[in-house]
Parts: sequence; structure tokens; C-alpha cells
Amino acid sequence: MYKTPFQITILGSSGAMPTSNRHTTAQLLKHDNKLFLIDCSEGTQIQMRRMKIPLMKINHIFISHFHGDHYLGLPGLLFTMHLLGRSNKLNIYSPPGLKEIIETHFGICNLKTSYSIIFNEIEKGGATIYEDASLKIDTISMLHSIPAYGFLFNEKPLERNIKKKYVNKYNIPVDQILKIKAGASYTTPGGEVLSNEELTIAPPPQRRYAFCSDTGYTESFTDQIEGADTLYHEATFMKEFSELASEKLHSTTAEAATLALKAKVKKLIIGHYSARYDDTQLISYLNEAKAIFNNTYLAKEGKVFDVG
Ligand SMILES: [Zn+2]
Ligand SMILES: [Zn+2]
Repeated sequence: MYKTPFQITILGSSGAMPTSNRHTTAQLLKHDNKLFLIDCSEGTQIQMRRMKIPLMKINHIFISHFHGDHYLGLPGLLFTMHLLGRSNKLNIYSPPGLKEIIETHFGICNLKTSYSIIFNEIEKGGATIYEDASLKIDTISMLHSIPAYGFLFNEKPLERNIKKKYVNKYNIPVDQILKIKAGASYTTPGGEVLSNEELTIAPPPQRRYAFCSDTGYTESFTDQIEGADTLYHEATFMKEFSELASEKLHSTTAEAATLALKAKVKKLIIGHYSARYDDTQLISYLNEAKAIFNNTYLAKEGKVFDVG
């Protein structure tokens, strides 16, 4: 049982173009009490308002690539944060070029934001771009028409859980409890040594979330995402358009599911649906993927998925 929430909220499930009820790509990742924004398409800030997501609590934004359906909501969101008087610095991670885009945009209207923006440029896949006490985030190289990256969110090992009966029985002080949670044994006032295995229960396994969009079918990052608890993989087209998918460097339902199977992930979420499909056709989408990888789910605006 996990005490720390690790969840994805889908803000947009559509491919290159929005439809009347599907937004283009953006997701909110919550780990513990931290919020991370993955991609920021047009309308993302409106989606966050609708879903009552506190946008000022976002301190890190990850942009996969510079196709409009993945980042055109960013200037608007940054402007709103300025209007709300944000003072905390904001970190943005993206392929090179964003600093120039944003500085040009705000420079023309002579706007100096109330907060500082730190532009972190992604140069390659497999690089660690963010790390804190409980989470590490790595880049994944996508196969796409311009430099594009996925993101792998790795939870760090959780602390061991101390058995309450020992804390009560020996009245173990707080500083010792912290050491025991980190793996230490404990010597009772009477001189008896209790091993860490006896005193504690192992924590649940670390969880991993892989976000992979946009990409043509490739097995080049299979090793990196192997065994992930949840994989989000784009599926722009159904199987009938497999040639078009490979030409455009996008994936089909069957390809996303095949990769999920090969990488032995536990759960697959598909999205980035072509605007040619209306919502009633998405059940066929799901069925095509499930025929290959049964534990598949459809991305849908407002849907929250637990990573583990
Ligand atoms: Zn896209
Ligand atoms: Zn793209």
C-alpha cells in the first residue's frame, strides 16, 4: 500500500488538432505534494482551471518538442502566472530554442515577468534532468520529425515502515526511529539488539511512469522503460493507417500495444488521437490495443490514473 500519491491527470488527449471536446496534449503529474506539468498545449491553463488544479503550485514544466500541439499554451500560462503575481522561480525543460521563443514573445510587448524562468535545455535521451529526495526524471529519445523527448519519472526507494509495537514497547526516541527507517538496527535499553528486518516492514516497490509522445514505432528505448508501472504511448492512428503512421513518425494502436508488451510494462495509456476519429470510434481504438496488450486504457480529459 502506497502512502505517497503518484498520479497522472489527462488534460488533453487529442493529436495535432483539437476537436470540439478533445484538447491537445498536456498532462499533470502529481507525486507526493509536488505537481509537474508535462507538455502545455493550447488551452492547458483553462483545463487546469476546470479541474481545479492550483497552477501556481507548478514549479517544473516539461516540454517534449516544439510542435504546436505540445507547447502553444505555454505563453498564455506564463502570462497568467505573471498576472497572478508569481514570485517563485519556474523551471522549464525542453529542447533548445524555448528561451528565444519566450523572450521574443514577451520582449515585443515589453513585459518583464514577476518571476524568473529558468530554461533547461535537453540535449539527449537518457539524461537525468531533475532530481530531488523522492523523484528522478530522465529523458527518453523519441523517433520524430524534429527533436522530441519522452520523460521517465522514477520514484526513489521509499523508507522502511517501522512496526508500531516496537516503538511502544521500547519507547524508541524519534532520532532512532529515523535511523531505523533508513535501515539501522536498534539496541534496547536492556542491551538486546533487534535487527532491522525484525523492526520494520519493507516498503512497496518504487514506481515508474514513462511518457512517450510523439514518436514513430521504435524499440530503441525499450530497455529504458522496461517494467514501468505505467506507460503513456501515443497512438495517433488505428492499424488501418500504419503506413501513414510510419511516414509521419507517429504510432498506431497496435504499435503502442506491441511496445508495451515488449517492454513488459504493467499498464498502458494511449492517446494523441487523430482528429479524424470521433469519440464513438475510440472503443475500436481500445479494442485494437487490448487485443495485443490487455491492460490498456484510453486517455480522456479529466481522467486520473494511478501510476502504480
Ligand atoms: Zn503531437
Ligand atoms: Zn509532434
